[in-house]
Amino acid sequence: MNKDIVDLINNNQEFILTSHVNPDGDSIGSEIALFIYIKSLGKNARILNYSPTPDNYTFLDKDKVIEQFDETKHKDMILNADVIFILDTNEYERIRTLEPFIKLSSAKKTVIDHHLGFKPEEFDYYIIDTNSPATGEILYRFFKDIEINYSGKKIINPQIAEALYTAIMTDTGSFKYERTDAETHLIISELLKHGINPYDIYSKVYNNATAGKLHLLGRFLENVKLLYEGRLAYSTMLQKDFKETDTDEYAIEGFSTHLLSLSTVTLGIVFTETKNGVKLSFRSKGNVYSNLLAKEFGGGGHQNASGAFVAGGRINDLIEEAVKKAEKYLEEIKIN
Ligand code: 5GP
Ligand code: MN
Repeated sequence: MNKDIVDLINNNQEFILTSHVNPDGDSIGSEIALFIYIKSLGKNARILNYSPTPDNYTFLDKDKVIEQFDETKHKDMILNADVIFILDTNEYERIRTLEPFIKLSSAKKTVIDHHLGFKPEEFDYYIIDTNSPATGEILYRFFKDIEINYSGKKIINPQIAEALYTAIMTDTGSFKYERTDAETHLIISELLKHGINPYDIYSKVYNNATAGKLHLLGRFLENVKLLYEGRLAYSTMLQKDFKETDTDEYAIEGFSTHLLSLSTVTLGIVFTETKNGVKLSFRSKGNVYSNLLAKEFGGGGHQNASGAFVAGGRINDLIEEAVKKAEKYLEEIKIN
């Protein structure tokens, strides 16, 4: 499969890279790493995202190459591209307004992702590895394979190492989630040899809160509700919470981990009122399949981290519905 992608890159000139709405460290890190590689081959590449880059990831975009998608400016570029890489998602719905133009484009549509995929027929190339904790790890292996088997030249430089490190650090919850394994740590060890600084990167990503964000966290914790003998925990964030703390929806990243810090909890849900609908964010422990619940709301994701977005939905109705539907997923099945 890597050979196909190597040929695809070598035989084409115009590339577009994109990722999902509300990009995270894995989206931005993977985009930057692949962008640098493609540019190093003398090819043209653009990164077009639906959402702006969250402030805490702008350090990865040193040359300010990431652009926010603008139909009038970027439509023709997408239609005329040779190859479009869709990173860290395999669902058109999650690239929002880019979807119609990418579908219309004659470019080879190429997914590189680590989420479960359901519609491979919608793409020309489809690289999905659900065992990888991050898309950045798949890219690391891809680059290594090229270094060793195809070009013989070193690809990974300090900037790519920093981007891939950030991708893996953020998607593994700083190296503690289920899919973090020996290979992940070996990859991290290789990346560290490029002189990047773990504390520096951690600080840029996580030690960047404003007082407003702490106040928002206060409200989030205050709002926590427990149900079903404490197995389900949820909290709610409303537009007025963002307004009154001078924050926005992006500020809640990471809050859901507090729900799982409760010993009795197997499933946590964060309900966020957005300007055009309700976002549901699910986190679970062990073999509680949060993504099956997310699917009931038209979303998806991984077993232990998933989400859904209900356009135009009313938050109180969704809380009621999700709480009811959650019951059948709460029991952790012990396999011994
Ligand atoms: P978060 O709760 O951090 O926004 O998302 C956690 C994970 O859930 C994401 O990495 C992604 O896999 C999945 N996810 C979140 N929102 C959606 C959504 O609207 N649709 C789908 N299919 N997956 C989502
Ligand atoms: Mn990811």
